[in-house]
Amino acid sequence: MLNIKIFGIVQGVGFRPFISRIANANNIVGNVANRGSYVEIFAQGSDNDLKNFLDDINHKNPPRSTILKIDINNLPDKNFSDFQIVDSVHEAGDIFVSPDIAICDKCAEELFDPNNRRYLHPFINCTACGARLTIMKNMPYDRERTSMSEFPMCDACKEEYFNPDSRRYDAQPICCNDCGCEVYLLGKNLRGHDAIKFTRKILANGGIVAIKGIGGFHLACDARNFDAVQRLRNSKTRPTKPFAVMFRNIDAIKRECFLSDVEKTFLDSPQKAIVLLETRDLGLGTKVAKNVAPNINKLGVMLPYTPLHMLIFNFPDSLLPYFPTSLVMTSGNPSGVPITIDDDDAIKNFDFCDAILSHNRKILLRADDSVMDFIDNRPSMIRRSRGYAPLPVFYEGGKRSVLAIGGELKNTFCLAKNNLLYASPYIGDVSNLQTVEVLKKSIRRMSDLLEITPEVIACDLHPRYQTTALAEKISAESNIPLIKIQHHYAHILSCMAENNFHGEVIGVAFDGTGYGDDGTIWGGEFFICNEKTYERAAHIEKFTQAGGDKSAREGWRIAVALMKNLDAARELNLADDINLRGQKFLLDKNINCVTSTSVGRIFDAVAAILGICKISTYEGEAAMRLQACAEHSNKKFRAEFMTTDKIFDEILNRRLNGENVNDLARLFHELLAEMTAQICEELSFKTKIKTVALSGGVFQNSLLSSLTTDKLQRRGLKVLRHELIPPNDGGLCIGQAVKAMHIF
Ligand code: ZN
Ligand code: ZN
Ligand code: FE
Repeated sequence: MLNIKIFGIVQGVGFRPFISRIANANNIVGNVANRGSYVEIFAQGSDNDLKNFLDDINHKNPPRSTILKIDINNLPDKNFSDFQIVDSVHEAGDIFVSPDIAICDKCAEELFDPNNRRYLHPFINCTACGARLTIMKNMPYDRERTSMSEFPMCDACKEEYFNPDSRRYDAQPICCNDCGCEVYLLGKNLRGHDAIKFTRKILANGGIVAIKGIGGFHLACDARNFDAVQRLRNSKTRPTKPFAVMFRNIDAIKRECFLSDVEKTFLDSPQKAIVLLETRDLGLGTKVAKNVAPNINKLGVMLPYTPLHMLIFNFPDSLLPYFPTSLVMTSGNPSGVPITIDDDDAIKNFDFCDAILSHNRKILLRADDSVMDFIDNRPSMIRRSRGYAPLPVFYEGGKRSVLAIGGELKNTFCLAKNNLLYASPYIGDVSNLQTVEVLKKSIRRMSDLLEITPEVIACDLHPRYQTTALAEKISAESNIPLIKIQHHYAHILSCMAENNFHGEVIGVAFDGTGYGDDGTIWGGEFFICNEKTYERAAHIEKFTQAGGDKSAREGWRIAVALMKNLDAARELNLADDINLRGQKFLLDKNINCVTSTSVGRIFDAVAAILGICKISTYEGEAAMRLQACAEHSNKKFRAEFMTTDKIFDEILNRRLNGENVNDLARLFHELLAEMTAQICEELSFKTKIKTVALSGGVFQNSLLSSLTTDKLQRRGLKVLRHELIPPNDGGLCIGQAVKAMHIF
């Protein structure tokens, strides 16, 4: 008899029914059990049958499962008469929690089959699809430990749930038109299909509806309707930040955007992230309103990923031929606060909506949509959340249990144990007390779920981050040692961890703002580092940020600091004269000034002098628009080495000479990439290190990343980049965890 232990994503993905099926097919007797952290099998049969059985485990495993490790032991035979699935037994160990999974093709087909008993059922799911992480209380994954526990199953569902031949055998969120959760409109006496039809009517007529999904509420409106989009912008006080759009299907997306094969694969994957796609030229048959994603050449698009989304687009009512093929679907949250998940908050927060479509399946953990861009045809995660969290990153070398609390903006936190780093779903900006509460609660829930009790806590070095204060508090209350890790070093470690790279690297961290070892703002750093230590080997030229928070939003203020006098600022009309002189005064008198090496701010300054964006209305706006302009230029430059001061002067002088703005945006990217490559080459020559890790929010810029990578590779250097962990502060917790694992 073989005793087989399978580790990996084997919970909530139909693994036990799969084992039972292949056991029967191969004449194997014995049993299979969910052990919380792994699946354990006792299998008895002829040598040949056992061999085929093991082959099937390795090659026919369910599409959503991931096998990480299989342990096999020989044991004496027992008296089994058949193959059985035994009830879940809980044991401590490494835990692999499945992320939420988009509706599968089979369920989507049944959803619109009038002869199916789940015809038009907004919560149809099976062992291969549906909510997971967001409805789980603790492990092992069984119905009574999810938010489905309050809904008794009807007889027909019970039949399927206990029948090993059913697609829904052991599917925890199983329900149907006769049992389980339902949708309803808040404040109106409409439920089920009536509520969905009413929602469609409002959306088709230009209204705004808040819709409860898997990990929180969305705010939705017709993406083609300029006025509706504008009303949503005004209500959310979000003047220009791009909205994501959900399209009815791939064809509808192709009419608006260019779509490569790789992009299509990710767009249509079980994770169903928001994917940033290049938009077709406006005016050539495109329909999405211009105010959905103003001033940039990309659109964040996604496909319907829940049965409810599909019903909203395709419900067979009289509106079907006219219903919009694209809807704005933006996270439903008041500005600066995490996504709304329950009805009471929805009523408070969404009073401007024409309807609120909710449901009674509780969301236990928030999960925003994940957002992904592409660089050189490889994914580049911008926000890692639903569908990806909490899949672990594997990084050998640390057994210690760690809580890494992350940064303050784009916060995610990480729990780590036994070489596995589990990053949480997106929490967001943790700069007010309400968000700190959400962060605290989420930490508690995730530690329960993953059964991790931290032995060490890690946080950023920044003395004024709310996350630093929280880490200090948890550390003091629980008597757990706390370590503080420099922001940009954590960025580089996160990139090394994602690539499972051990040893010395040249780390290039280009970023917006991070607290440096010397108390100044860092963000243009070249490190020589490994998992244990780092040295700041070089940095871009220091400049002065004057004007506090405003200096991080208003690129013209940085431009003034980089200029010798106000003549050029006046000529380029960077700001009115009072503001220009005010800014110059702060700089000259050293009032409200900090020293900075932030590359993010250099982007802002260049965008300002090129007249592309003088004041950002959302984080990263200037850089995104500068990149969009650069991508409109076909001009080839031969870039020479220049320091950032010289680069700024060069762009400024050419601008004053009236050169084309798009070309200059392009030149700026080329010069910055060239500078980076040459500094790395020099550091490599000195240290003999041949690997460069690129991280920090600035490397979200696909043009800069691509140019820099190319120039480094031409110099014989190996480049490590992020793919599924964000280079921005959303990936910071992973780097902090790596350092904490290696501290003693
Ligand atoms: Zn399914
Ligand atoms: Zn039922
Ligand atoms: Fe950062």
